Amino acid sequence: MKFLRHVLASCCLLAPSFAALRPNIVIFLVDDMGIMDTSVPFLTDAEGRPERYPLNDFYRTPNMERLAARGIRFNNFCAMSVCSPTRASIMTGQNAARHLTTNWINPDTNNAGPHGPPQWNWRGLTKGGVTLPRLLQTNGYRTIHVGKGHFGSGESEGADPRNLGFDVNVAGAANGAPGSYYGRQNFGNPVNGKAGRIPGNAVPGLEKYHGTDTFLSEALTLEANARVGDAVKAGKPFVLYFAHYAVHRPFNSDPRFAAHYRDSGKSPDAQAFATLVEGMDKSLGDLLDHLDRLGIAENTLILFLGDNGSDSPIGDAHHIASAAPLRGKKGSHYEGGVRVPFIAAWARADANTANQKRLPIPAGAIQRQLASVEDLFPTVLALTGAAAPPGHLVDGARLDTLLSGKSDSTRRDTFLMHYPHSPHRSDYWTSYRDGDWKVIYHYFPSKVSGDSHYQLFQLAQDPSESNNLAANEPAKLRQMMAALRAKLAEHGALFPVADDHVTPVKPQLP
Ligand code: CA
Repeated sequence: MKFLRHVLASCCLLAPSFAALRPNIVIFLVDDMGIMDTSVPFLTDAEGRPERYPLNDFYRTPNMERLAARGIRFNNFCAMSVCSPTRASIMTGQNAARHLTTNWINPDTNNAGPHGPPQWNWRGLTKGGVTLPRLLQTNGYRTIHVGKGHFGSGESEGADPRNLGFDVNVAGAANGAPGSYYGRQNFGNPVNGKAGRIPGNAVPGLEKYHGTDTFLSEALTLEANARVGDAVKAGKPFVLYFAHYAVHRPFNSDPRFAAHYRDSGKSPDAQAFATLVEGMDKSLGDLLDHLDRLGIAENTLILFLGDNGSDSPIGDAHHIASAAPLRGKKGSHYEGGVRVPFIAAWARADANTANQKRLPIPAGAIQRQLASVEDLFPTVLALTGAAAPPGHLVDGARLDTLLSGKSDSTRRDTFLMHYPHSPHRSDYWTSYRDGDWKVIYHYFPSKVSGDSHYQLFQLAQDPSESNNLAANEPAKLRQMMAALRAKLAEHGALFPVADDHVTPVKPQLP
């Protein structure tokens, strides 16, 4: 059967010459890394030139700089504001309002929030569902998962990445954070029979590093490089989904880099966070070097991104600090909650290779057009010659034109972020962006929203979302709200519920 599948993949779905040229794909996903948590300047001035901010001078990410110099970085790339929704969107190409995993997945309970929709998809992805690795696996790719999974709750099928089409899983499970980054603490597994602080967050599968000085990001890198080597040895194209636990809490300082931040004047947590960023960056560099050594760099596309806005311990959720000059951070409805770094580059530039002729990526370019995590699925499918089955609705659109540095007039420059959850009633919200306009609807007005359902911002004039135009621009507000409601209806979204825990509370036009 396996042989037949391989023959079908190489003879029928693809011309043999194309099959031989299929690119390797690396999705390098960093947890809780926002667009400002790096020394690479992503934001631009009015003329489109990169502009450095103080946070760019605090962090040290030389390998992200190397990658950005080889390829294109996007500064209007949006993710969902928490982990699991983004991960499910990468796997399915669907917006969270459609795949219904609208909140982060708790390993063992339904954390809808007191007024969240009880039937949201808190169990996550399933074995029979359409996923990116499954489609690539069927198409002859070696599919490698390394790092954080968080695709499903503890006992559900999605907890094991191998149920979702990954041939190989290293360290992925239901948990959304590591118990510890330290090998000496067995990454949160029991030490001398004593359980880690949060047993549910113990990282599985890295026993050979237990009791050693190996930091988690380093252990994952060694394993990822080994698995890539195996695929090359087997003569298979591969997709490596390399999802670092870094830079998610706990803020364990990585001793390899601590001295770089000791005199920064920042808090111990902020310094530890910076070491997590730098350790992740070293991992990226080690992977790039490894691809070079294997002689496959010019045939390997790197897609680097964060999964939600910054969770750096600088500042609080709804103010300007973590992602300055953007407002807010992870979990927030402001841009600091959803804007993430995205860099696409061939691991080594070589304009003469067939793949790079098909997808040329300009060196050091910046793309300012809006894109999102939903776009990875159709982009990777197109590049690898795979296709989603009919009936699987995809909300994302191919990035080819944007990756080549051009603007793409066929795209709709919109982004829907639907978050019908909160531990606090005040926070249930949906935001909708169309070009430079952004509306935020609060289902339960509170002090956070200025006691109004509506916030309206013009991001080109007001990138830090400090001037709410809802009262001054009633026609624009109404138009944006109508589009937001239509988009939710089109996706089949679930809504927060009233005090009876049954009646959906839907967004109202002003
Ligand atoms: Ca995250």
